[in-house]
Amino acid sequence: MAQDKERTRRALLELLRRPGNSTCADCGAPDPDWASFTLGVFICSTCSGIHRGISQISKVKSVQLDAWEPVEVEFIASTGNDAAKAKYEQKVPPFYYRPTASDCQVLKDQWIRARYARKEFIYTERQEPYSAGYREGVLWKRGRDNGQFLSRKFILSEREGVFKYFNKHDAREPKAVMKIECLNATFQPVKIGNPNGLQVTYLKDNSTRNIFVYHEDGKEVVDWFNAIRAARFHYLQVAFPGASDVDLVPKLTRNYIKEGYMEKTGPKHTEGFKKRWFTMDDRRLMYFKDPLDAYARGEVFIGSKENHYLVLSGLPPSTQGYHWQHGITIVTPDRKFLFTCETEFEQHLWIEAFQKAINRPMLPQEYAVEAHFKHKP
Ligand SMILES: [Zn+2]
Repeated sequence: MAQDKERTRRALLELLRRPGNSTCADCGAPDPDWASFTLGVFICSTCSGIHRGISQISKVKSVQLDAWEPVEVEFIASTGNDAAKAKYEQKVPPFYYRPTASDCQVLKDQWIRARYARKEFIYTERQEPYSAGYREGVLWKRGRDNGQFLSRKFILSEREGVFKYFNKHDAREPKAVMKIECLNATFQPVKIGNPNGLQVTYLKDNSTRNIFVYHEDGKEVVDWFNAIRAARFHYLQVAFPGASDVDLVPKLTRNYIKEGYMEKTGPKHTEGFKKRWFTMDDRRLMYFKDPLDAYARGEVFIGSKENHYLVLSGLPPSTQGYHWQHGITIVTPDRKFLFTCETEFEQHLWIEAFQKAINRPMLPQEYAVEAHFKHKP
């Protein structure tokens, strides 16, 4: 008996070493140590928790800690991560967001449910909520000034090229119209204080506006997210004819490079340092009084080293006033921007984020953005 158990255990560990099984089938995290013996996949512990929520189709066990029956191991041997991928991801639309290990819970949760429970990527008619080019529904939207969430009607229309919302359900005129061209969406559950919190930003007259929304139902909010990605994908296909999916997909939505509090001072460097919430979105460093502000108070464009942008650790020796200890100086062709961080670790992370932008050569369209910032008073 003990020998049989040992043999089963060894067979299971052997399977884990097969190509395809070395990363979580669902989020790609390395070294998965759980498995679903009804779906035949190896998964990480986070994803195994989500599989417990669909226990009618997925039964999970720990590779190391649970006892395994030979028949369960044989089933996994007959499937595995690669075979499951071939089966459950037959028709994933190119724009559909595939979560990674660092993504929030709702994205992983809905990816797993869409894959195995709803089988959305086997039956394409189930993709209609995000593939039809038109979507209408109600989302809870954070009020601009009072911070209260109110239910609002939203419409996403690829034909009109817009995402819009209405203040009253029977209103004819939308409260805001956001062009798909300059729309971004990113899940921000911690910042918004809701597990399904989605931040939608858009550019209006070259300045960034934020709206914060959620839906109680994880499927609904992830469908909205993928509908926005579909609209962006179709817009970019027209704007950049001949560009491949591989080129376009990374442009559909952007996660921020870094966010957090720093202190900043004004152009004369004598105004004193003020604590602000900073968001690094590609080359745009925006700052807000509060993380959930509708508008950025200001922005700093960060170009490349070829264009005379430089990031330095520390502040100029003449800097006055009380401020956090760990300084950062960004040198642009126009002026120096001074920031301070509360900890050395934060300082390190911010410098790394700025350096990334500075080390990357500028794209032709980024010069137009830079020009706009140069002419700003
Ligand atoms: Zn995982």
